[in-house]
Amino acid sequence: MTPQPNALEIEDLVMHFGPVRAVDGVSLTIPRGRVTALVGESGSGKSTVGRCVVRLVEPTAGTVQIAGTDVTHLSRRRLRPHRGAVSIVFQDPAASLDPRMLVGEIVAEPLRLAGKGFSRREREARVAGQLERVGLRAEVARRYPHELSGGQRQRVSIARALISEPMLLIADEPTSALDVSVQASVLNLLADLQRDIGFACLFITHDLSAVEYLADDIAVMYLGQLVEKGTRERIFARPAHPYTQALLSAAPVADPVRQRQRQPVLLGDDLPSALDPPSGCRFRTRCPLAFDRCATEVPAQTPIGDGMAACHLVQPDGTGPDVRTTDPSEVLS
Ligand code: SF4
Repeated sequence: MTPQPNALEIEDLVMHFGPVRAVDGVSLTIPRGRVTALVGESGSGKSTVGRCVVRLVEPTAGTVQIAGTDVTHLSRRRLRPHRGAVSIVFQDPAASLDPRMLVGEIVAEPLRLAGKGFSRREREARVAGQLERVGLRAEVARRYPHELSGGQRQRVSIARALISEPMLLIADEPTSALDVSVQASVLNLLADLQRDIGFACLFITHDLSAVEYLADDIAVMYLGQLVEKGTRERIFARPAHPYTQALLSAAPVADPVRQRQRQPVLLGDDLPSALDPPSGCRFRTRCPLAFDRCATEVPAQTPIGDGMAACHLVQPDGTGPDVRTTDPSEVLS
């Protein structure tokens, strides 16, 4: 039996906006039914990767395959049959829902765009079912987005994204514009739906604590490039790249005793400009363990299981120093 193609395969993706190198050679595979979290600070290029996948922007180079079809340069007409295979939920539901449309029309829109010939009654029944699935009452279909709370609006976005039964969902910071009090319920909803329906998901976030509940795999992005990939279990237990270690040191943990004992690793300066990234390892201007070679040599990707880490200090067995416990003066130059 021929193996089924992966939900998403990104190969050497490059997206330059003029001189700004927003994405600079990203390769990432998401098998069917799995969730990969793409994490990194704002400005790392992670949202641009998501936008390339749904073709909101056309990549400068590289390829994007969805369910085995190369969609990188398909014309709008030829892209249409593949539109239903991938959906996106944006950060801010207030901006992504058309204020002039009723919720029912918004949720039904992907069916209309995909040219699926449902009767009005069938469409209404599907919308009602979809609203209930995301925890809203069916009569919300007759309301406008401004009549709903932020959390309810994001539930509408999720209902719209999933009505075409996509193989792949791009969730771009889906909770970061919401009130802290409703963030957890929206994340739980996404996790439940993913488990029930089994769609693959690229979950773009800067919030590592959200990743812990939703992701199977994690890819860490820094200044347009991936610096580490691995399973959630491995990355949380044994992060190999100094940047991942620093991000994890700052993420809150549930255990209050462990939380009090932890010392976040301070990365100092802001993310350098993507106009002129540092030579060698791009993280070197903020890395507590940087040494001479880091300025002159781009670190190779050391394989770790199915994943990798790109740092000169990571050994072939995936071990290396941890910035959370290592005195930088002990690192050889
Ligand atoms: Fe730090 Fe050097 Fe490793 Fe880059 S290659 S993460 S600068 S130690």
